[in-house]
Amino acid sequence: MQRIHNFNISPEEYYARGKKNDFPRLDVCPCCSYPSILPRHGFYWRNALFRNSYFRIPVLRLKCPSCGKTISFLPDFLLPYFQYSLEYILEAAKKYIEERKATTYYQLLQFYRYRFLRNLNRIEAFFRDQGYRGFIPEKDKAIKLLKLIGAFPKAKTFAKRFQDHFQHNFMAN
Ligand SMILES: [Zn+2]
Repeated sequence: MQRIHNFNISPEEYYARGKKNDFPRLDVCPCCSYPSILPRHGFYWRNALFRNSYFRIPVLRLKCPSCGKTISFLPDFLLPYFQYSLEYILEAAKKYIEERKATTYYQLLQFYRYRFLRNLNRIEAFFRDQGYRGFIPEKDKAIKLLKLIGAFPKAKTFAKRFQDHFQHNFMAN
């Protein structure tokens, strides 16, 4: 299981701290509710790509001694399974959907757009579950939902809450 965690630091700082970061703990297994502090189970390394920079960063894993599942804490500037940062992805999807402008290479854009459009109904359901009662037009749904998600860094909160709510990211397959 991947969790999105707000470390409250910049990607640069996250990278600089490496394995010495202030990582969260879990007192209860989120998979089986086993009531014990979950021991650490090493790190995995992943890429974090930004418009003009690139980091390779450690992600902490915990492992439940009861059910054997692992739980990892992804910093909230990333999305599970995406190498590019949340900021980059949202910006690219937004530019392409709203303005039809290509800011990055075409195939990647098509992919982001496809994934975003594919999740539109789930994203709408999320906002409804959160109590949003405003009108969402069927025709311009993508643009309306992009507005509700908002710009980075506000969108980090959305991505984390969506993940907590549905247990997958808002750009999931
Ligand atoms: Zn467990």
